[in-house]
Amino acid sequence: MRTVKAEQIVDAVAKMCVSANRYLPEDVKKRFEECAAAEESPAAKEVFRQIKENWELAAESGLPLCQDTGLAVYIVEMGEDVHVEGMNIRDAINEGTRRGYEEGFLRKSACDPLTRANTKDNTPAIIHFDIVPGDRIKIFFMAKGGGSENMSRVTMLAPAQGWAGIKKFVIERVAEAGPNPCPPTMVGIGIGGTFEYSALLAKKSLMRKVGEPSSDPEIARLEAELMEDLNKLGIGPMGLGGKTTVFDVKIEMRPCHIASLPLAVNIQCHSARHEEVEL
Ligand code: SF4
Repeated sequence: MRTVKAEQIVDAVAKMCVSANRYLPEDVKKRFEECAAAEESPAAKEVFRQIKENWELAAESGLPLCQDTGLAVYIVEMGEDVHVEGMNIRDAINEGTRRGYEEGFLRKSACDPLTRANTKDNTPAIIHFDIVPGDRIKIFFMAKGGGSENMSRVTMLAPAQGWAGIKKFVIERVAEAGPNPCPPTMVGIGIGGTFEYSALLAKKSLMRKVGEPSSDPEIARLEAELMEDLNKLGIGPMGLGGKTTVFDVKIEMRPCHIASLPLAVNIQCHSARHEEVEL
């Protein structure tokens, strides 16, 4: 059994919170350069120029990429042959979040859902655990902005609605969302499982790097098909029209009950801040 000290987790998480909010990931930047080159409309090109200027300014100045520095969302792959010493891993991740958001001068967005009283340290973080083989701990972090999260939906389709029904729901959702989730967006789709598991699948799909299709060739084909259809909507960057309404589509699919077809659509904005660390 391998041992990881809780303090290592606190440090790594605190660093991730700050750097993810400051530096747009390379996979996202690369895709934006490609999309900008393909755009013909001056407005769309100008939005991509501003997005680039924003990521350069954030990196140079140390200011966050967006004023909404998000709820801290983590997906943790916990090896079955590793144990954490000194603190419970959930407490360590929350402590790292607290420290990162404080030391990085990042806005604290977590609040009581009814009183709206701010918890003042951006905790509790949203943490999902997976137990995996091995002796490593892999932590995926996402700073999830409220604007794009608010445009996300879960629904239970009838099984007979199939792929046609899934496509219709996703396209309608992105169309209704319009400029609200700060497009271009990345659309994470969870198909199958149960009501709550489909939402988790959608969230997990957003942790996959931009430009990395599903390892299942048939699902990869569906991702490409949906991306093409979504970009025909013409909403464009920041809703000003153009070829890039979405810059990536990810699908995660699992078996479900014979009577159900759960579907979740989790939208990520252009400030697609994600990072990962392995300990
Ligand atoms: S949706 Fe994204 S880009 Fe828009 S305000 Fe929220 S975090 Fe910022």
